[in-house]
Amino acid sequence: MAGRIPQQFIDELLARVDIVDLVGEYVPLKKAGREYVACCPFHAEKTPSFTVSPQKQFYHCFGCGAHGTAIGFLMEHQHMDFVEAVEHLAGRLGLRVPREGGRGEAAPARQPHAALLQTLADADRWFRRQLREHPQASRAVDYLRGRGVSGEVAARFGLGYAPPAWDGLLRTLGSDEAARARLRAAGLVAERAGGGLYDRFRDRIVFPIRDRRGRTVGFGGRLIEGDGPKYLNSPETPVFHKGRELYGLHEARESTRRLERLLVVEGYMDVIALAQHGITWAVATLGTAATAEHLERLFRTVPEVVFCFDGDRAGRLAAWRALEQALPAMRDGRSARFLFLPEGEDPDSLVRREGRDAFLARVEKAVPLSEFFLEGLAARADTSSMDGRARMAELARPLLSKMPQGVLRDLLVEALGRRVGLPPERIAARLETPAAAAAPPPRPRPAPARRTPVRTALALLLRQPSLAAGALQARAWLRELDLPGVPLLCQVLDLLEKEPHLTTAAILERFRGSEAGEQLARLLGMDLEVPEAGASAELEGALARLEARHREQRTEALLAKARAKGLDEAEKAELRRLLAAESPGTGLGSALD
Ligand SMILES: [Zn+2]
Repeated sequence: MAGRIPQQFIDELLARVDIVDLVGEYVPLKKAGREYVACCPFHAEKTPSFTVSPQKQFYHCFGCGAHGTAIGFLMEHQHMDFVEAVEHLAGRLGLRVPREGGRGEAAPARQPHAALLQTLADADRWFRRQLREHPQASRAVDYLRGRGVSGEVAARFGLGYAPPAWDGLLRTLGSDEAARARLRAAGLVAERAGGGLYDRFRDRIVFPIRDRRGRTVGFGGRLIEGDGPKYLNSPETPVFHKGRELYGLHEARESTRRLERLLVVEGYMDVIALAQHGITWAVATLGTAATAEHLERLFRTVPEVVFCFDGDRAGRLAAWRALEQALPAMRDGRSARFLFLPEGEDPDSLVRREGRDAFLARVEKAVPLSEFFLEGLAARADTSSMDGRARMAELARPLLSKMPQGVLRDLLVEALGRRVGLPPERIAARLETPAAAAAPPPRPRPAPARRTPVRTALALLLRQPSLAAGALQARAWLRELDLPGVPLLCQVLDLLEKEPHLTTAAILERFRGSEAGEQLARLLGMDLEVPEAGASAELEGALARLEARHREQRTEALLAKARAKGLDEAEKAELRRLLAAESPGTGLGSALD
């Protein structure tokens, strides 16, 4: 089994990471008092109900109830699993994730494709070594130099060289049957018609394609000269899906501190040439048009996406297809633009010829989605005639219907109305309710937690774990108290007695995946209206009410026993004490609101 990540490490991680920074990379946050707010990334809304608290290191949406820690955010928003989220946060802080009790990371149970990924990593290393050492690599090196690619950029992207032989990789990594089967599964070798295997990539510059976590999942190969397709990609494998991966996304995230936008280009060399000129935020689709999955991945990373196309007819058509894919993803706060290059140019040639600033100036002038949308529709219908305008409205209808409701859709409806001479309400009325394509299914809205002394005490301890020190004594009678939530309260106090320095987020992570964890998270979302300075007194008050409730329960129990079978002397004394202590103001049930 893979080694467990020590709990202590997770505590430390959560104490050091700043959830505001983290969430801010994906969601535009605005400061509001002590917290930050935004429109919720987990449900469609126009007014912000998503809050991130730097004190609690916790996010909470009052609209849909989404909530969690930095780890939870990555799991929910970036669809990482727990280990991925921990590794991602550790990576941001430059920490290595320690493991205990296991042997390394490559445990089959945790990583079903560990062997495949290992084979790809081995091949990656081998290709890179060939670029440095193979006698025939000089052609590849010359090609890259000719394109102005520096050693530093080649290293950053892990460029390699596949030598011309049919069995270079096969002989190096395919020592036995099992190893050859892995090479085959990884798409690195192919089977001959007559049987036998051969290297898929030969005499090509090799571009490793890395996933979100930086693991090589496939390769692209560019022919240096001679016959064959100019570009060749790994086939689809269990770890490589063209419709999902974006070349350069990992590198963009690594080399750009705060990614704000991404430029989507077509080729590996475009990404590399742009990076060479300091534009480190370009990514390429892998020989396919951008898919809906690409779009979601792009917009989960940045709020703004600029698509780059050749300015010719084919380029415009491709851009229109990209627009169609982008529409369902256009939630409020996201923007897409289209950059058309002069005919016959690609970003690689253009940035080398014009330089960085001129290229960036072009990006600034990229056409907004709204404009391209209206232009594209008008080009498909003759808007000088009434029929043509009706047709334009007809063409727009299915496209607008794909969009999530929001400001952009409203603006497009209005602009379209002006173009075709129809009141916007008429257009809007004919649109279908948007498919939930981009927005995740709505969650059941949790009922706000009613304030009881138990909940108040728990909520206060969660917010200010240091308060626990003054409440540990109370467990003596708390353990006897029969009220919902009391066992959890004792559990939290036990935890804080052992580990007094846990942060709010670390406490929550201790309860990850449990019903108790959900309860605690709900309590953290509860508005206590208690200033930090008053928290200690508030906790004392809550405990005093619980103690009164405990006395009542004890009194009732003793009275019941007295009626049933009588009390011994000690019990009688206790009952007398209890009855004497009960002041008129605290009748039965007073501890519960
Ligand atoms: Zn929400």
